[in-house]
Amino acid sequence: MTSHEIRKAFLDFFSSREHLVVPSAPLVAKNDPTLMFYNSGMAQFKDYFLGNATPPSKRITDTQKCLRVNGKHNDLEEVGFDTYHHTMFEMLGNWSFGDYFKEQSLNWSWELLTEVYKLPKDRIYVSVFEGNEADGVPFDQEAFDIWKKILGSDERIIYGDKKDNFWEMGDVGPCGPCSEIHIDLREQSEVDKIPGKELVNADHPQVVEIWNNVFMQFERKADGSLIALENKCIDTGMGFERLCMAIQGKQSNYDTDLFQNTIQVLEEMSGLKYGVNGTLNSDSYSDVAMRVVADHIRAVAFAISDGQLPSNTGAGYVIRRILRRAIRYGYSYLNFKEPFMCQLVPVLAKQFEDVFPELKSQEEFVKKVIEEEEKSFLKTLEQGLKRLETIFEGDNTKKVIDGKTVFELSDTFGFPVDLTALIAKEKGFDIDEAGFKTELEKQKARSRKDATKEAADWITVNELDNPQYVGYDNEEAISGLVQYRKV
Ligand code: ATP
Ligand code: MG
Ligand code: MG
Ligand code: MG
Repeated sequence: MTSHEIRKAFLDFFSSREHLVVPSAPLVAKNDPTLMFYNSGMAQFKDYFLGNATPPSKRITDTQKCLRVNGKHNDLEEVGFDTYHHTMFEMLGNWSFGDYFKEQSLNWSWELLTEVYKLPKDRIYVSVFEGNEADGVPFDQEAFDIWKKILGSDERIIYGDKKDNFWEMGDVGPCGPCSEIHIDLREQSEVDKIPGKELVNADHPQVVEIWNNVFMQFERKADGSLIALENKCIDTGMGFERLCMAIQGKQSNYDTDLFQNTIQVLEEMSGLKYGVNGTLNSDSYSDVAMRVVADHIRAVAFAISDGQLPSNTGAGYVIRRILRRAIRYGYSYLNFKEPFMCQLVPVLAKQFEDVFPELKSQEEFVKKVIEEEEKSFLKTLEQGLKRLETIFEGDNTKKVIDGKTVFELSDTFGFPVDLTALIAKEKGFDIDEAGFKTELEKQKARSRKDATKEAADWITVNELDNPQYVGYDNEEAISGLVQYRKV
């Protein structure tokens, strides 16, 4: 099955079971003060769970663009080094708002995975919440019994603790146990050596979690007590890229048709081959770099097409940081000295034309924004890297980059602090974060005096009839702030 067919089969499956298919919310969480980016499928439905709004249907399904790069869920450091965590990914989901509950949901999960997608039953492991006395939450006997009936035995049921198997929206509010579905994609000879059960949640690249069923059945009160909810809800989330890996019989998300187009273009552009020594060749930096670039371009392109431009503050800075991280990987390990990320936009726009048409409709704009960001950063990247080399090669027995230098790299060369830290780490160096903060405070005090006007972080791209890049604001050129205006 192609990724298109896999996505469609999911939505068709739930649509034919009376679920309303809704579009993904934009990647950028505009209406939620607690979130910068949507990081799960349920986030756009929060008000339905809290009872602040009525859902258009008691059953809903969709694929949600998610970004996990900050806050509670931050997978950025994993991306490129492992083969199954992305910055931006799609989360397929089905929801019941006070309608069907555990038994129906778990049975549908199983039916879809084994009968529609035909995943091997004996390679699937499921987890149930083990209970937590101190917290007053019981063992999820109900989920255990349902799974035992479905699986025919309890051999492949795992007991999970609060960290993996209990979900809460916050300190108070709806909460409940969850049940994760994991799949073992290893060769049989490997399975014979170590049973899959032992590798669940152990960071094995081919024994991965694919789906989570959350059972919202309690409400946590301010005094810490739990009450049973009258209107129980189901919230599920399945990692689409991982599902594609499993169905397409691949060892890595990057080997699926979701990433292969981009990787092929990167191979042509760089003259380097991806994964020559096997698909999981993460020792090779060009492989890591290709994965990072193929991943990050999705996050950046979709964020921009959803209205979040790279900038120097807030969510815009998160996007700029992701972009610069990718540019540096491309520059150092794929030998790209000219803008290259922008050239990947058409590949994605075409690939996602039917699913997320917002990218195709703004293709030229997104490309231009990324190209200008690249030009801006490439101007200072080399000098910044040279500056770092002098430190790595110099007399630095402590192996620490001092705060002043970290600040200089950020202020003069546009190196986000986490990028400096990442490069430092590759050489076995740390950075002096406290020292950096001191320097930053000093600068803030200076600029408070100057009281310059701030550039807006947000524009709604769709409102622009003919958006055009209009060049640098000279004063900001050093820190790389690119300006966009309505023309
Ligand atoms: P993991 O333990 O692998 O980090 P998770 O438990 O944090 O996953 P959930 O919050 O349960 O993930 O999200 C539901 C599903 O979304 C997961 O089962 C997984 O398939 C997928 N998923 C989660 N994080 C990522 C990511 N960074 N990239 C791709 N898919 C992801
Ligand atoms: Mg996680
Ligand atoms: Mg997990
Ligand atoms: Mg999970």
